[in-house]
Amino acid sequence: MSSMMALLKAKIVVVPLGEVDFTLVNRLATEIGPVFDRSVDILKGMKMPEEAFNVIRSQHYARVVLSKLERAKANQREKVIAICEDDLYLPDENYVIGYGDHLPGVAVVSLFRIRQEFYGLPEDESKIYERLIKESVHQLSYVFKVGQCRNSRCVHYETSSMMEIDQKAKKLCDICNRRLTGKA
Ligand SMILES: [Zn+2]
Repeated sequence: MSSMMALLKAKIVVVPLGEVDFTLVNRLATEIGPVFDRSVDILKGMKMPEEAFNVIRSQHYARVVLSKLERAKANQREKVIAICEDDLYLPDENYVIGYGDHLPGVAVVSLFRIRQEFYGLPEDESKIYERLIKESVHQLSYVFKVGQCRNSRCVHYETSSMMEIDQKAKKLCDICNRRLTGKA
């Protein structure tokens, strides 16, 4: 779906936040553009904001991370997705794998719980990447104002476990795709 239109639309900027495996970031940047029909840039890298760290929870507050990303935007229109290795939380959740907000146009995805080793299992790079792209497409869909999806096969379906993430498809369903292109 890569087209001339993609060049005219605002970019997606992928941001490695802190120390992140660049192979994963690079692959994500390559594959995420066609999903949203946008061109993609990779930012050199940014430090995880210290003010996001909650000492008691030993996690980073996702909302503070989003504020920092919003301030780093080159213009209002571009959409930002950051990838980090740190564990993220929201006040009402023990943790979040990812978090996106369409108002600032930014999202963040954490590899912390996506990694197999978190569950005491051997590392499986292919699984990690699949989960990363699924969660990234899911969060970016929110950024592009695609509302919640009830189709459990759709990549934009809200999941709470790695098993559910592994089970859903990598693609947006027809309804989400129509919402994305404004034809719903
Ligand atoms: Zn859907």
